[in-house]
Amino acid sequence: MPTLYGRDDREDTETIPFFGSAAEAVDLPKYKLNQEPLTPTGASRLIQDELLDEGNARQNLATFCQTYMEPEAVKLMAMNLDKNGIDKSEYPRTAEIENRCVNILADLWHAPKGEKFMGTSTIGSSEACMLAGMALKFRWRDWAKEHNVDPHAKLPNLVISSGYQVCWEKFATYWDIELRQVPMEPGELSLNPSNLNQYLDEYTIGVVGILGITYTGAYDDLAALDQVVATYNQTNDTQISIHVDAASGGMYAPFMQPDIKWDFQLPNVVSINTSGHKYGLVYPGIGWVLWRDEKLVPEKLIFNVSYLGGSMPTMAINFSHSASALIGQYYNFIRLGFDGYKEIHQRTHEVAAYIVTEMQKTNRFDIINDGSGLPVICYKMNANAPEWTLYDLSDRLLMKGWQVPTYPLPADMDQTIIQRMVIRADFGMNMANDFIEDFKQALLDLDSARVLFHDEEAPHTYGFTH
Ligand SMILES: *Cc1c(COP(=O)(O)O)cnc(C)c1O
Repeated sequence: MPTLYGRDDREDTETIPFFGSAAEAVDLPKYKLNQEPLTPTGASRLIQDELLDEGNARQNLATFCQTYMEPEAVKLMAMNLDKNGIDKSEYPRTAEIENRCVNILADLWHAPKGEKFMGTSTIGSSEACMLAGMALKFRWRDWAKEHNVDPHAKLPNLVISSGYQVCWEKFATYWDIELRQVPMEPGELSLNPSNLNQYLDEYTIGVVGILGITYTGAYDDLAALDQVVATYNQTNDTQISIHVDAASGGMYAPFMQPDIKWDFQLPNVVSINTSGHKYGLVYPGIGWVLWRDEKLVPEKLIFNVSYLGGSMPTMAINFSHSASALIGQYYNFIRLGFDGYKEIHQRTHEVAAYIVTEMQKTNRFDIINDGSGLPVICYKMNANAPEWTLYDLSDRLLMKGWQVPTYPLPADMDQTIIQRMVIRADFGMNMANDFIEDFKQALLDLDSARVLFHDEEAPHTYGFTH
């Protein structure tokens, strides 16, 4: 007699077909523990079935996060799931691998020879941004003390484009900072350097430049921001510095746009973060933050952990986590090398260009970001707009499994509704072709569809946009 959830008192439980077992005859409690254990196959089967109708990650064109890794990498990562990445004394080799990755990034980002860079892995860019932001805040506090600026008279502020990613809002909330937003303007979808001056004062802990604004994929002009900050510091005896949020661009631009100056080549850029799980091509769970010189990291941020009988400085908000994503990052670094990353990104870029060309042929959209920088395509309806909206188009694409988010731009441009596609390494030309076919069919279907129109559709976000 099979007991509950597929357990069986007979010896050969293997012979019971799963869909003939009790596990499929009983509704498992969802919000409290089931009393009896399930068989491993039964538990796995039930969960797989539960997840069946969830979006297919490879067709998710909303996310920057990596959705493919080579089987060798996956195996390696699975083999290392049991290692605690924070435990440097138990896993000194893993600590050395982290150290190598930091060095590789410092090299890619032109850390100056005369300075001693410092960096760490994190869970993602959000944790990295918290650390970088705190370093700015602590340094500003020291500066304020030396310059007789009362640190409590006003909230310290951080200046950033209104197209910031939500982690900066968290940073400001958690650490009592005024997030001073430079609004996006029509035709200016990155932080306008000529507007920057008016946002700076003696309570400014730093300026964040974004290499790949989440909303549109556009790059802030870091070289120009660096100039404005340099001049401001000179005239005002301040030490305002720049952090670059290169979550998506940090492992793209060095390969594809080596001529753009955005990194430690700029004297006022003190720290940079990136997400290994975006264009670093690793599954989610890995980010990086580097400072150009260790003296920019306040001692208060550094905690010493024991390491082979000695002590090793660490910076982290999270403590225990698996080392597997870190191992995955190192795998990609040595497996791909500089040329491998470049080839992959080059192909991704070509796919983005192809999609833009096909989209332009439809004569329905104004392209806002054409993927010539980061391979992110972003567009709005043009003047030939039919009665249906981009929200309807998102719906229609979803019928074929494609997730393409529609949302309004941030403050001051929030009447502009856009659709955005993030092109990633695993979205090859063949998949792109399929997508374009579905896309064109969706336009035809919508043109001849019978849908109920409402006079006004309030701008809202449809789909996950980060
Ligand atoms: C994705 C992103 C983040 C957050 O990164 P996570 O790695 O998801 O924590 C921060 N800033 C920008 C610009 C991003 O694109």
